[in-house]
Amino acid sequence: MIAIPFDFVERVIAKFDKDVKSQIENGKSKLEALKKTQIQKSTLNKDEVIYIDNLIKKLAKIVIAKPSELKGYEAEFPLPNQTNEDRKIIFKDKILGAMGYTGLRSSFYPKYFQKIGIKACVYCNSQLTIVAEKEPTLKKIAKFQVDHFIPEAEYPCFSISLFNLYPVCASCNNIKRDNKIDFKLYLELKDISASPFLFQLDDNSISEYYLSRNPEDLVINFSYPGPETGYEDFEETFAIKGIYNTLKDLAEEMILKAEIYNPSYKQILIDSFPDIFNNINLSNRLFIGNYVDKDDIHKRPLAKFTQDIAKQLKLIK
Ligand SMILES: [Zn+2]
Repeated sequence: MIAIPFDFVERVIAKFDKDVKSQIENGKSKLEALKKTQIQKSTLNKDEVIYIDNLIKKLAKIVIAKPSELKGYEAEFPLPNQTNEDRKIIFKDKILGAMGYTGLRSSFYPKYFQKIGIKACVYCNSQLTIVAEKEPTLKKIAKFQVDHFIPEAEYPCFSISLFNLYPVCASCNNIKRDNKIDFKLYLELKDISASPFLFQLDDNSISEYYLSRNPEDLVINFSYPGPETGYEDFEETFAIKGIYNTLKDLAEEMILKAEIYNPSYKQILIDSFPDIFNNINLSNRLFIGNYVDKDDIHKRPLAKFTQDIAKQLKLIK
């Protein structure tokens, strides 16, 4: 629900230089092996061989390509066999297997995205991006859930491209599929201003709540930018309003906190626990029960909602 400056991500990638280089080398050698065995079995056509050769040649650049550069590579890597859907899918799966994306979900992505500061779904911000999955050995393992901004069904060559990876919850991943959403996680800007998404409690519903003290009277609104041509509508895709209108109890708690933490009570807390409550960031975090900076929205589910409502209620500035 908020973008990350691209140069910050580049600095994190530099810290994982060894891992990234080994992903590239693994990918190249698996693609070479794929080409060799499939040529021996005469199962590759000419276009497929050209595709693999070109991918081996460009893989080092494609893995760390900026979003704008990836866009440029799209024209170079249309999947072969566009008129033969079955063959196209078989070839796509072979490329995906060679790129090693599945293994990285448990070995690399958790530590990489931890450093970037993402643990909550970048689309809905309501759930974690870790899911428990059953391995072929039947062992359960916690894996990072990742959506590909440029869909892997058409571009398996970008399946391990770091700027094509969007950490998501299982629900958003399942519902989005290969649709294109008008939200860019990585922006080629130095600084990100505010998130273009906003949660607000309907003012009339707050007045009604004060009279009834019934959280069901609260109405949660969600505003978001309309989609550019060619992209799906954000709200229609993820049903954000529906998800967040199940959180009226949380909204009620925020209203009560805004009443409780008045200036005189805040002063009592500062006097009693100066080390904690003289630290504005930490004390605000305790007041709202979540992170308070816009840059920390991805660190915990519901941070965006909590920040927006807390600001509306003047619980924090
Ligand atoms: Zn989600």
